[in-house]
Amino acid sequence: MVTNRAMSTFTAIALWFCFTTLLGLGNTVGYHRLLTHRAFQTGPVVRGMWTVLGAMHSGSPVFWVGLHRFHHARSDTEEDPHSPVEGFWQGHTGWMVGTSHPLPCILFALSGFGQQALILVHDLKRLVGRNPPTWRKVCPDLMKERLMRWLDIPLVMPVVFVAQVATAAVLGGVAGVAWLWLAHLFLTNASWAVNSICHWPTFGTQPYDTGEGSRDVPWVAWFTNGEGYHNSHHRFPRSAKHALHGGVDLSWNVIQLMVATGLAKEPWLPRSFRSK
Ligand SMILES: [Zn+2]
Ligand SMILES: [Zn+2]
Repeated sequence: MVTNRAMSTFTAIALWFCFTTLLGLGNTVGYHRLLTHRAFQTGPVVRGMWTVLGAMHSGSPVFWVGLHRFHHARSDTEEDPHSPVEGFWQGHTGWMVGTSHPLPCILFALSGFGQQALILVHDLKRLVGRNPPTWRKVCPDLMKERLMRWLDIPLVMPVVFVAQVATAAVLGGVAGVAWLWLAHLFLTNASWAVNSICHWPTFGTQPYDTGEGSRDVPWVAWFTNGEGYHNSHHRFPRSAKHALHGGVDLSWNVIQLMVATGLAKEPWLPRSFRSK
């Protein structure tokens, strides 16, 4: 006989997987493939929905997209905002912590809400004029949109985060906040794993000579909605599909579903992959 307690534990776990996957897709389908690389077209409602899901854990869309465009333009050079050329942990969290020493990098990676604390510091510095929004210059397309400009106002992202914590606390108390913490712990490390693991020579393969260290790492694609095929992505940044040579790519499956249901159109693929 299934007890009420077992049932609610099962519900909490099932909800966690749905919530975390949906927020993860906000980053991979929304921030990355739609906003940064314009891999497909969609209407303002769907675009807004993916953006808000991404904003729940990835910070301002204009900041994230600006940083990522810098990464593509300067991959694995001194100007790359996040590269593991000076050490694996430097590429994972060291670029945010300000050191490549493994201990603080690992502690930050395990902090769960650490990225949200950093976003707060980042925004407070902006308020006192010590952090001019240079990232806006590489996102003139996004700056035309009211939602993007609004989400890039200092302290809007921390308010979105506090609202999540308050909701989790009201619904589930301490366990609810722990539930949310685990989601952020997973989502931040999944995103950073693309920067560290998928640019580290030990892992995966490099089917394309892209002139930097990006790698296709199939097992990373499992927990990053397909983003593990990072060398293929660097070769064809605009491609809506990253697993071009086969493999798990949940983001591509979601884009295909949106196209099939009329919610998206014109998913871009490299010419030689269009009939596949
Ligand atoms: Zn990369
Ligand atoms: Zn990219």
